[in-house]
Amino acid sequence: MINLVNLKNQFQSVKDEILQGISDVIDNGEYILGPKVKELEEKIARKIGVLEAIAVANGTDALILTLEAYGIGKGDEVITTPFTFFATAEAISRVGAIPVFVDVNPLTYNLNPLEIEKKITSSTKAIIPVHLFGQPSDMDEINEIAKKYEIFVIEDACQAFGATYKDRWVGSLGDAACFSFFPTKNLGTLGDGGIITTSNIEVADKIRKLRTHGTTKKYYHDRIGYNSRLDELHAAILLVNLTKIDQWNGERRKIASRYRQLLSDVPYLKLPSDVNDRTHIYHLYCIETDYRKELIEALDKERIQTGIYYPRCLHLQEVYSSLNYKKGDFPISESLSERLFAIPMDPFLSESEQDRVIEILSEMGGA
Ligand SMILES: *Cc1c(COP(=O)(O)O)cnc(C)c1O
Repeated sequence: MINLVNLKNQFQSVKDEILQGISDVIDNGEYILGPKVKELEEKIARKIGVLEAIAVANGTDALILTLEAYGIGKGDEVITTPFTFFATAEAISRVGAIPVFVDVNPLTYNLNPLEIEKKITSSTKAIIPVHLFGQPSDMDEINEIAKKYEIFVIEDACQAFGATYKDRWVGSLGDAACFSFFPTKNLGTLGDGGIITTSNIEVADKIRKLRTHGTTKKYYHDRIGYNSRLDELHAAILLVNLTKIDQWNGERRKIASRYRQLLSDVPYLKLPSDVNDRTHIYHLYCIETDYRKELIEALDKERIQTGIYYPRCLHLQEVYSSLNYKKGDFPISESLSERLFAIPMDPFLSESEQDRVIEILSEMGGA
């Protein structure tokens, strides 16, 4: 069996260090928002190149708390992509705002800046670009639009820890950025976790309050908040994985370049773009084809796992029917939802495993 992502190999490779970290936590005696969380926040802020990092319970909460800290709520509009994980839009709806969708660029699958300006109204408060599958969005163009209309840019960087754009880390490219530490994400833990990075100290303070019930000091509350904290155990695990992330992302890029080298002649496959002013860190390796069903079946027969990201665009989700979008509104996103699928990719995928995937994908000659 070749898994889409083999988490076991990854965690096995750092098991001893993780067990040591967990043992430290038990000895420290502080189990939520303690010294490990503080160390993780400081290390991530320093790495990314921002003033503040605030750890929370998961990536979805990271988005919700950030939107709320920027004062975004009822009646406000937030522009984002219909081709992303549901949580991006869900967070916008959760704070009472309206997600406004804009189609993606067919090359990068990320928000198309040329489409954004058409959707800006007096209610638009922010843009959330998603660095989908680990590839940074067109941040210069997006930031320029945001500056012109005085709106915020919140990066959904949940799939892109360690990616760079013009030699800057993802997470430092907008007003704030949100990361997820869900186990399958490039930087993941053995459970849920998330973090927000920003250089806006006022916003960081607001998020810190929001994550602990709107507390100013213990048992004194000046707003309604959340319980959205990161456990020390997860911080201990993430501190270990943080020392490996650039190496792991490097391995992903090597595997991607080998896929490119060995699959580029297959006529019925379109491989992911790797735009040269940024580093794609291949959270997922997705390929486009008119023969998705056939290829997935052929791989499945050989016990090779695949995944469809994402089978239904957000503007066509039942829950958003009240937003009155229809099929055909975002042709590129819709076509991707019908043609794209992910093949195995993780830092520990072996060459022989990769060769088997390549062999099956190439064998469809007459398809
Ligand atoms: C995973 C993910 C999220 C949500 O993160 P959780 O930690 O699962 O809450 C949000 N946006 C994108 C693009 C994601 O991939």
